Amino acid sequence: MNTQIVKAFGTDAPTEDLKQLSIERREVRIKDVEIDILYCGVCHSDLHTARNEWRGTVYPNVPGHEIVGRISKVGSGVTKFKVGDLAAVGCMVDSCRECEQCKKGSEQYCENGNVQTYNGLEKYLNKQTFGGYSEKIVVDEDFVLRVPENLDLAATAPLLCAGVTTWSPLKHWNVGPGMKVGIVGIGGLGHMGVKLAKAMGAHVVVITTSPSKVEDAQRLGADEVILSTDMGQMKANAATLHFVLDCVSAEHDVNAYLSLLKVDGTLALVGAPEHPLPIAAFSLIPTRRNFAGSTIGSIAETQEMLDFCGAHNIVSDIELIKMQDINIAYERLLKGDVKYRFVIDMASLKN
Ligand code: NAP
Ligand code: ZN
Ligand code: ZN
Repeated sequence: MNTQIVKAFGTDAPTEDLKQLSIERREVRIKDVEIDILYCGVCHSDLHTARNEWRGTVYPNVPGHEIVGRISKVGSGVTKFKVGDLAAVGCMVDSCRECEQCKKGSEQYCENGNVQTYNGLEKYLNKQTFGGYSEKIVVDEDFVLRVPENLDLAATAPLLCAGVTTWSPLKHWNVGPGMKVGIVGIGGLGHMGVKLAKAMGAHVVVITTSPSKVEDAQRLGADEVILSTDMGQMKANAATLHFVLDCVSAEHDVNAYLSLLKVDGTLALVGAPEHPLPIAAFSLIPTRRNFAGSTIGSIAETQEMLDFCGAHNIVSDIELIKMQDINIAYERLLKGDVKYRFVIDMASLKN
């Protein structure tokens, strides 16, 4: 397999800062496209993985799965894209394509494990995949998305993970008019969840630990805001919500958020803290509540979400950073000091 060397940013160990590295990318195969990466969002999963908080990180690790750019090369069998097109890549770059889940278009739940954009298995090179903190990426066209031309490109990048990871469960649990929906944790995922749930027609309740986000919540589209550190507010809103999307990245008391659900309500976890979250039996039993989870979204759902965002003019609220500032950005992300997504301007990697 022919390969090329490209510049990237990554880390050699859980406790080390990210720094510039060189990585190998395969040359385009028949069905591949090569994308010059213009912007890459910074997801909390990047930080969890770089620091091996979920175990299993293979080093060197190059994070980044909110990728937008322009196609610079196409293989001879590519039909959906041409050189010069805008294109995007999210959290997965392949799947087995044969299992029950793949066949029904739910590649994210591939029974053989989808191939993650980073820290997955690059089957052609037989090594780990490297993510979007890099100059270029080569991906099979079936896992590449079309980008609406009317949206700000940098602010579109976070849709590729934060957007679809909130879109998919909101759709799955039929969020729409007549539903009261809580979004917990207003970071990258949460702020997209608020915008999308509102655009879907739901009554949206923001549930935050940050007094500084109470004001912002309305601008993002919230109808109500609960400060979760205020027990009085939590009690006053007990058993009022049909659905809760939990986007929290750190340890937290899920029982407190379950208490907000009505009978038969569902709390879907998308946040993925390092340690297990204890659930009290009586948070579920007396009200037949459901405690669920959801991972990213399928390729079809990702395209559907991008098209919806194009039609409704929805993008992420971002702070653009240079690649060289990624370590400072990680520290700020841990403190919740970003409104609401860092996006890396990849031109900075060329310097
Ligand atoms: P983020 O931008 O850091 O946002 C996390 C938010 O959680 C914070 O802004 C904060 O919101 C809240 N929070 C933090 N610590 C908390 C605590 N101790 N108690 C209560 N709330 C707390 O992270 P993100 O990029 O949105 O990612 C969120 C989580 O989703 C991460 O664990 C990430 O790995 C995971 N994720 C999962 C999937 C999936 O497929 N399921 C995909 C992408 C990401 P407030 O200030 O409003 O309280
Ligand atoms: Zn992500
Ligand atoms: Zn499969």
